[in-house]
Amino acid sequence: MAQRRYLRPGAQVFWRRPGESQIGVDPRCAVVVDGLDPVEQGLLEQLPRLGGEPDLDVYARELGVGRAPVRRLLDRLAGTGLLVTQPPLLDGPDDRYWHLAEVAGHPRPLRRGEACVLVRGLDLLGLRVARILAQAGVGRLLLEDDAVVGLDDLAPDGYRGSDLGHPRRQQAFRLLRAGSPMTALTAPAGTRPDLVVLVAHGAVDPVVVRPLVRDDLPHLPVLVRELDVVVGPLVRPGQGPCLRCLDLHRTDDDPRWPAVATQLTGSPPTGVETSLGWLAAAVAAHQALAVVDGRGVLLASASLEVSATYPLPRYREWAVHPACGCGGVDPTETAAEAVRPETEESPSSTTAGIDGRSRPS
Ligand SMILES: [Zn+2]
Repeated sequence: MAQRRYLRPGAQVFWRRPGESQIGVDPRCAVVVDGLDPVEQGLLEQLPRLGGEPDLDVYARELGVGRAPVRRLLDRLAGTGLLVTQPPLLDGPDDRYWHLAEVAGHPRPLRRGEACVLVRGLDLLGLRVARILAQAGVGRLLLEDDAVVGLDDLAPDGYRGSDLGHPRRQQAFRLLRAGSPMTALTAPAGTRPDLVVLVAHGAVDPVVVRPLVRDDLPHLPVLVRELDVVVGPLVRPGQGPCLRCLDLHRTDDDPRWPAVATQLTGSPPTGVETSLGWLAAAVAAHQALAVVDGRGVLLASASLEVSATYPLPRYREWAVHPACGCGGVDPTETAAEAVRPETEESPSSTTAGIDGRSRPS
């Protein structure tokens, strides 16, 4: 028996004129279908509500038109990428987004539930990163922080006044368990996280980084500075610049940098400006999800500097420092996963129709 076909969740159908309908609006995933007879066009308009072939067949039978126009319609849509052969089980905003992104050529994350991310540094920014990852479906989060909740950690979505002075890790655990009960917050001994997100203020402590390099664990620094937050580069030991490479580059520019960095490492956190805190958490979680999904990672050998003064992050590429000895190879030369920043050009406009289909502009 032929496989049944279903419309991807999130796809909407719009009437354009008799015989011509449009599925979706974004030119990256939308398509115009013309040459439809009135029955086919009526069936297409019902497709988002009915979901797929089984219910469309029932609907067609009730109309008294039989299954033939259903077959013809779905055959017409076969090359659009908008049909799948498994009924979509979940239909939340993330599912709908990634289904349509898949039409636009981005792989749909299928294994987030099996992923494990360790977030080290659970100030308000780190807590938000953890919350985004949990909400986006990362199956297991491990939390690390030795500090206690301070005044700068309090926010309506963060720690509460009653948390003051209590261990951040313990309170973050409680908040995440309440907000995302499906996310595991513990792991069997010896579990290797897929990624470690390091949230730090001033400078990343080399003592924290050393075991990550030794154990070959990918890590993504999220560094709070006075006027910005630096996200990245994603360090995959041996595959690109490491955090020591960055320090050596900075020392090339300022020979006294190591003295300053040492003092920064031990200095108390200063909190993060409100809009910057959200922006940085979103950027960090965005790239962390790209890592666990196995999608292209913009920060494979680059960082994004986000600030409260300008909405676009500053993109900065980093090279392996010749004096580091970390063995890093430029990932843009070796790894297929590295991606480049997108330009301001909009995606493809109308393309020539094939068999009565075209992409709307
Ligand atoms: Zn290095």
